[in-house]
Amino acid sequence: MLQPPGGKPWLLFALLGASVALNIIQAINKPDVPAHKETPAIAAATPAAQTSDASPAVQNLAAAPADGNASSTQNPSLLGEATAATTATSNTGYAIVRTPVHGSLAQTFQEVAGDDGDALSAVFARLFVWDLDLRHDVLRADQIAIAWKKVENNEIDMPVAWLRSSKLGRTLKAYRFKAPGDSFASYWFPEGLEVPHRLVDGPLHDYQQITALLKDRPTHKGMDIKTPVGSPVLAPRDAEVLRENWSFAGNGNCLELRYPDGTLAKFLHLSENLAHPGEHVAKGQTIAKTGNTGHSTAPHLHYQLNRGDKVLDPIDYHGTVRRQLNPEVMASFQAEMARLDGLLGEAIAQR
Ligand SMILES: [Zn+2]
Repeated sequence: MLQPPGGKPWLLFALLGASVALNIIQAINKPDVPAHKETPAIAAATPAAQTSDASPAVQNLAAAPADGNASSTQNPSLLGEATAATTATSNTGYAIVRTPVHGSLAQTFQEVAGDDGDALSAVFARLFVWDLDLRHDVLRADQIAIAWKKVENNEIDMPVAWLRSSKLGRTLKAYRFKAPGDSFASYWFPEGLEVPHRLVDGPLHDYQQITALLKDRPTHKGMDIKTPVGSPVLAPRDAEVLRENWSFAGNGNCLELRYPDGTLAKFLHLSENLAHPGEHVAKGQTIAKTGNTGHSTAPHLHYQLNRGDKVLDPIDYHGTVRRQLNPEVMASFQAEMARLDGLLGEAIAQR
């Protein structure tokens, strides 16, 4: 139930089972890419399943791994030859780090950023967990390049992160960009494919980031989604409301729904419940507003699924999609990408 503070190494040790399929979306820029047929490791949705969740600037694709190197030709040598960590400071105050991986991601980042290493590692891991098993698949020969600085509340601002993965045989390049129509920036690969997956028919349609997966910690039984207080929580299925506000000290305002297949869904740390026990709610109906109540250290939604005494992983239960920036948005994304490539290159070139 706790929203873990950023920067804890738990993330690194538990990011198992995320998609490691090696398929690549073949037709990334076509307007209606069908669900990829060769993604057995991923419960992929068809694009049509979530059209209501897409802003005009984006469309949903089956959640196949990205070809993170597909169209990035800038700075091709930036990750080519580092054998030791280097850090430079850009004239915008970002530290530019280029380092080979040694040991775990946490160890690697501790070496370059000391006490901030764990926080950096967690932010970095949240990006690449969707494409790699970070415990097993980040290898000694891999190379990392990031720009970062610490901002208020000790949060890490990391607008660009690269990982040259020997396991994947390519470099994953994640660029922060706010798509028109979205409330929050997300991260995107050079071809305009979103880095994090999204739940199909999840409880939040506009949020900052999934900050904890079920598999991150054995004691944590749900998914945490960072979002400001007051974000509408939508019923993911037609459902009956079973109870509310039990174990208030830990859960805060909370709701429990029963889906038609018998799955119980818990929504914790709410600021306001808009549905109540005995009511039937329709899929997509707003049932609550997110909050920071109970045992929670930052505004977020804890979403948990149970069937019998089993805890279900929302990723498996819902399936996921990746969004694709639409062609008319690509020019502004590419301009931002060029700026961020410049940020990485500029500081290193000044050395
Ligand atoms: Zn939680």
